Amino acid sequence: LTLPLARATIAAMPNAIPTMVTLADAQRMVREHVRPLPPRSLALSDAVGRTLAEGVRCDVDVPPFDRAMMDGYAVRAADVARVPVDLRLIGQVAAGAADVPTVSSGEAAQINTGAPLPAHADAVAPFEDTALSADRQIVTVNCSVAPDRHICRRGTYVRAGDDVLHANDRIGPGEVAIAATAGATRVKVFSAPCVGLLVTGDELIGVERKPAGGQIRDSNGPMLSTLLAIEGTEVTDLGRAGDDRTRLAELIDRGLDSDALCITGGISMGAFDFVPDALIASGVRIHFQKMRTKPGKPTLFGTTDGGTLVFALPGNPISALIGYWMLVRPALAGMQGRDAWPRTHRAILCGSRDAGGTSNVQRQAARIKATGDRESFHPARVELDESSRLFATPLTWYGSGDPFGLRGANGFIVRAAQSPEAQEGDAVDVILMHWNDTG
Ligand code: AMP
Ligand code: MG
Repeated sequence: LTLPLARATIAAMPNAIPTMVTLADAQRMVREHVRPLPPRSLALSDAVGRTLAEGVRCDVDVPPFDRAMMDGYAVRAADVARVPVDLRLIGQVAAGAADVPTVSSGEAAQINTGAPLPAHADAVAPFEDTALSADRQIVTVNCSVAPDRHICRRGTYVRAGDDVLHANDRIGPGEVAIAATAGATRVKVFSAPCVGLLVTGDELIGVERKPAGGQIRDSNGPMLSTLLAIEGTEVTDLGRAGDDRTRLAELIDRGLDSDALCITGGISMGAFDFVPDALIASGVRIHFQKMRTKPGKPTLFGTTDGGTLVFALPGNPISALIGYWMLVRPALAGMQGRDAWPRTHRAILCGSRDAGGTSNVQRQAARIKATGDRESFHPARVELDESSRLFATPLTWYGSGDPFGLRGANGFIVRAAQSPEAQEGDAVDVILMHWNDTG
């Protein structure tokens, strides 16, 4: 009599542990909760790496004047239709010159690249095709130039009022050049997410210490700080919590003030894995707590009423990286108006293609074991060959607890659940980890 009742009670509990979800479902659930953060205005020099919330409009024609594109002589093309021809030199125009002379028929003016074209001139004869008389009064032009040759007309690139950068463009070096040309001293970008970072585990010590007893150095903290910095977030390092309920609760509460909280460790089935309970106690609604992936099964996503996204990743370094790349990074990018949901590419599975050097690739023929009921991930070195075909070399690793498998890794080989063994030469799916780009 009591058993069905107990089951019903569990089912009705608001915090009953959600079942295991596929990665695709996990990503869909995260995506549903991502909202772009409010825009803010930043000085252009502070905006590198950020994403525009509003486009940039150019305030001038570019170039702002008819401009010489070569060093030579400004001429009237009609005058040099038949060559050689002697033209009277009337002066010189340097870049930045405010006043320009007028070139009449039979005349030329010496001109430098970037200088404004004299009135009535319509082409530049490059120096190489000319000769100057000893008294520097006459220039002989030896090659014809067509009208508009070696000049760039005002407004050729853009017109005043043109949109030159668009909302959702990420600001890199090229975009900075564009904004500077357009006169944008300040730009409107999506705010950077504030992210709390918390690592858990009594065994963890800092990099400056030598492990004794059952200790190991914390590698997730430094790795995730690096990833979060690359993503343009503002990180609050909450430190290491240890496996202590009270301290964990305290740090989680602090972390929930952020736009996102990222935790590693403490979500498996161990006796000291208190993270899920602590999150629930802090008012976090858990959307899933396990993923059907290998590695990366104990991965949790939750939200608060205040809109904080909470990610708890496995303690094992490679699992933590996969969880970050597949869920956390796209969410943080989405808050900044960018799409960084990983896309898969097809690559050819291969063994080591170089004889050492800096890459940590295995020397034997590549082989990926058949998968069971979980989608599987393998750190890989992905490279293009001369014909632009993608090749993926699985890296040697001793499982998800082995960070050394990440040396040279720039992607993962992904195998769907129930895939057969993959052999050298087989096509496999890969996900690229390129730090500064989308996808
Ligand atoms: P957990 O998810 O807490 O069960 O941890 C799984 C494994 O990952 C254990 O062997 C931990 O010692 C290890 N681990 C947990 N956190 C870290 C970390 N921050 N850096 C390196 N290894 C960790
Ligand atoms: Mg632990």
